[in-house]
Amino acid sequence: MQGMHWIDTHCHLDAAEFDADRDVVIARARACGVAQIVLPAVDVAGFDAVRRLAHAHGFAYALGIHPLFVDRAADGDIARLREALAALRDDPRLVAVGEIGLDHFVPGLDRARQAHFYAAQLALAREFELPVILHVRRSADDLLKHLRLAAVAGGIAHAFNGSEQQALAFVALGFRLGFGGTLSFERALRIRSLAKRLPGHAIVLETDAPDIPPQWLYRTAEQRADGAAQARNEPGELPRIGQSLAALRGWTLEHTAAVTGANARAALPRLAALDRHSVRMASDAGRDT
Ligand SMILES: [Zn+2]
Repeated sequence: MQGMHWIDTHCHLDAAEFDADRDVVIARARACGVAQIVLPAVDVAGFDAVRRLAHAHGFAYALGIHPLFVDRAADGDIARLREALAALRDDPRLVAVGEIGLDHFVPGLDRARQAHFYAAQLALAREFELPVILHVRRSADDLLKHLRLAAVAGGIAHAFNGSEQQALAFVALGFRLGFGGTLSFERALRIRSLAKRLPGHAIVLETDAPDIPPQWLYRTAEQRADGAAQARNEPGELPRIGQSLAALRGWTLEHTAAVTGANARAALPRLAALDRHSVRMASDAGRDT
């Protein structure tokens, strides 16, 4: 995979799972060609961490309140998000509002509160002219309903797991769909069929690390009962996830990296400016030596 550049469009590198060895994880990702990583925040308390990590390592970040964190969020957190977006509006590494959305899978969540936070954050994305990174779980139709009213500048529906019709509705609204480790499971028929059939311009790659371990890291409930730890996913797995996509599409690995990278830059336009800058820095460095 020498010379290829991959973009992990969704990775929670700030998660506690990486506290012990974050730098090693980042070095491994770079060594296998992961050139850019997007770090979405999940709550206000995490805003500083994703911003600092992005700046320390040349990555990108997004600010938002995740639907699974809405019940714990304070009502004033929307105002705090707005303040952060205003303070950082000229930060080239701030590429989106996210991770936001609706989760209708996890039981016992306050759906009205989720909808309130989602709509308010879409309005902020529109105000600050940023795309959004969406959490979609059994919620595609409700997410789409809000999007049609909010007219945001597109973005990514991450870890997409809806129908083909729903996928195409997101695409029609200017969204790309994020595919990750689930692609690597033979039995993930619907996701694999979507990844195979969707227009090539609609697909971006992600790990969602430390979550969604690909098939080669996955431990079954039985293995875990026998004492095997559930494996931690990491951004260095992205190229191999890209191989799963390449096999499904009949693409070369080079083409897969190039197409999904271009799609990521189209979905999150500030990534394109960052990548031009890092390419320029790399060629400047080349001239110096
Ligand atoms: Zn996430």
